[in-house]
Amino acid sequence: MPDTLIMTERSVRDQVAEYDAIVIGAGISGMYMLYRLRELGMTARVFEAGTNVGGTWYWNRYPGARFDSESWTYGYSFSKELMREWDWKEHFSPQPDTLEYLNYVADKFDLRRDIQFRSTVAAAHWDEAANQWNVTLESGQQATSRFLFTAIGILSAYTLPAIPGRDSFKGPAYHPARWPHTPVDFTGKRVGIIGTGATAIQAIPEIAKQAKHLTVRSARPSGRSFTASPALASGWATSATS
Ligand SMILES: Cc1cc2nc3c(=O)[nH]c(=O)nc-3n(C[C@H](O)[C@H](O)[C@H](O)COP(=O)(O)OP(=O)(O)OC[C@H]3O[C@@H](n4cnc5c(N)ncnc54)[C@H](O)[C@@H]3O)c2cc1C
Repeated sequence: MPDTLIMTERSVRDQVAEYDAIVIGAGISGMYMLYRLRELGMTARVFEAGTNVGGTWYWNRYPGARFDSESWTYGYSFSKELMREWDWKEHFSPQPDTLEYLNYVADKFDLRRDIQFRSTVAAAHWDEAANQWNVTLESGQQATSRFLFTAIGILSAYTLPAIPGRDSFKGPAYHPARWPHTPVDFTGKRVGIIGTGATAIQAIPEIAKQAKHLTVRSARPSGRSFTASPALASGWATSATS
């Protein structure tokens, strides 16, 4: 690689961008925060680990994923025009529809131009003397801002179950919060689901339609039909060909 190119790449990487505000996360909260910051006339940057907007509804694509509150409660109320334009197709919106709504909002208000995807924030330090936040991404990129908003969600960090042998399991294994973007075909497979929380309750009937055999394991013998929060369920699906 020519020296000049290396120099250019290095100087771009070393540049510290300055904003009035930095938002971490482009879920429903981060998107709204960006909209409001723009209204205030502030320069803002959203850093999002995923490749698109939606947060919870971007990551959780497992079969049966669905809003379990009434769909309309998720509609932003800051724009009467948006409220008039959008009709929820179902009373309890399936994940693809909720994600479609959030993409619609991002398009309508041109939010993506201030959102940087594939950008995980690794550290944020308050510099008392400079009166600013110093934010560092996993990539090494740095940025500063007067205000920092952590719209990272209370359920966006997933946990894998601590099961002996988990790493040596030969078949495919999936966590609902990191479900592939293309459908998983369970036809003819023996499938195991760990957990009986809200996520599992949504996924079980859908996976059972395809699977040859389905086993559901719950940590508590008494069983638990519902958790207050879906992400608290382990919801770990494994499958093996028969
Ligand atoms: C499976 C499931 C079902 C749910 N169902 C309902 C429901 O029916 N009704 C309801 O009201 N709520 C429900 N919730 C709660 C839901 O999380 C909230 O309603 C809402 O979507 C949270 O939005 P948020 O923007 O605050 O956070 P999130 O949607 O979690 O978005 C946070 C974003 O921050 C990003 N992020 C996190 N850390 C970093 C970092 N260090 N750097 C860069 N980016 C980062 C994440 O990638 C994510 O995109 C559900 C949650 C889950 C997991």
